Amino acid sequence: MNADMHDTDGKPKEACGVYGIYSRELAGELAQRTYFGLYALQHRGQESAGIAISDGERTTAMRDMGLVSQVFDGQRLASLESGHIALGHVRYSTTGSASWENAQPEFQGRGDINVAVAHNGNLVNAGRLREELAEEGFKFNSTSDTTFIAAAVVGELERGGSVGEAVRAAMRRLEGAYSVAMICGDALVAFRDPHGFRPLCIGEVEGGYVVSSETCGLDIIGARFVRVVKPGEVVVIDDDGIHCYEGESPRRALCVFEYVYFARPDSRFDGKEVAGSRHRMGELLAEEAPAEADVVIPVPDSGIMAAVGYSERSGIPYAEGLIKNRYVGRTFIEPADGIRQLGIRLKLNPLPSVIEGRRVVVIDDSIVRGNTSRKLVQLLFEAGAKEVHFRVSSPPVTGPCYYGIDMDAPEQLVGANHAVEEIRAQIGATSLAYLSLESMVAATGQPKRNLCRACFDGDYPITGIAKKHALENRTHHYATSP
Ligand code: SF4
Repeated sequence: MNADMHDTDGKPKEACGVYGIYSRELAGELAQRTYFGLYALQHRGQESAGIAISDGERTTAMRDMGLVSQVFDGQRLASLESGHIALGHVRYSTTGSASWENAQPEFQGRGDINVAVAHNGNLVNAGRLREELAEEGFKFNSTSDTTFIAAAVVGELERGGSVGEAVRAAMRRLEGAYSVAMICGDALVAFRDPHGFRPLCIGEVEGGYVVSSETCGLDIIGARFVRVVKPGEVVVIDDDGIHCYEGESPRRALCVFEYVYFARPDSRFDGKEVAGSRHRMGELLAEEAPAEADVVIPVPDSGIMAAVGYSERSGIPYAEGLIKNRYVGRTFIEPADGIRQLGIRLKLNPLPSVIEGRRVVVIDDSIVRGNTSRKLVQLLFEAGAKEVHFRVSSPPVTGPCYYGIDMDAPEQLVGANHAVEEIRAQIGATSLAYLSLESMVAATGQPKRNLCRACFDGDYPITGIAKKHALENRTHHYATSP
């Protein structure tokens, strides 16, 4: 992030969204379709966007810093040559800086073998892999770990064998989180790490197939959902259809934060809308942490579903008490010193008619550092709230993420270093309560063992890098001002 850019929401940052289409029938309009797909995945990364189009021999690509709508216009899309394979990517950097070189799709090649790769996730063995691949003669243009995935695949393709087998062999060298779409010769390849940390699904479109981080990327171009790419699986799509190479999965570990915050509410995991899980989180929060109050308001947009659930279960009326400036992105140019006190008002403005003289329950999906929550509480009191009961539809974040989510350093995680009552005092709320881990998991409808919850409970699916932080602070999840 640029020094003059400021993070507006204090939320963990999703790493990336990946997208790919294989269809001869749609050749000529794949750039446009991919653009729309990336548009639907924009929430997964706002730093850079890129599209590559291939006819199986030649690949043209365009990538740049900025939102999808800033990087591409009609003219730029038209300048991409036509082809029957498309790859798309939106990025937020976790490994490697936010620079043009690290924008994706990433290219790697040697001799006649070239691949283009779009990756969501984070390799935990990137350092070692870089050394090994450098010894094998690979040169790297970017500092992103995606380039190592690309090089590992090229190295295996050089040894011969099918694309699917080469990717499987490369996967044995990769450790960590990776949901990948790749152009490899005349094929579109999709593969997912054995834990399945980040989502990836397949859809059917006229004359071919689509792969997308989320189902909302299928819906937007009218593709029919087929299934998810299974953890550990390689899917190769070419003129003969889909070829699947199943791999072993030691333990499934889809990121539970996808349900809490990252995924779009209209995306579906296992056939269920994420919106339904968030609504259920709100209901369970109302049961676990009731409040005597007059109105329930969400922190828009991510708190809306949970706030509706809280309101319905508690019987306390729901209202929109905070209006979001929808044209402020997740980052914006930091105001000059003189107007810095505008702070959170640049993004949220309270509605006094909803808040004044009322006891307010405000629902947010998570608290990471606590700074934004403190400003929000202050804003509500300034707007005339009599009491502010802060409710969070996930447990305290107590540890970092090693699997592709930018979660701040442990010392900055307020939940890692303070008990709930201390956090309540810091943010100045009348009361504060978090949803329990058990209820968050229950709301997803997934068995606990199939989810990564590591930043909440320290149970890191890939051992050896797990550092547990201050878990003793998490023994109670409810605090009320004295
Ligand atoms: S550590 Fe947290 S954010 Fe990272 S994958 Fe696991 S649940 Fe998701």
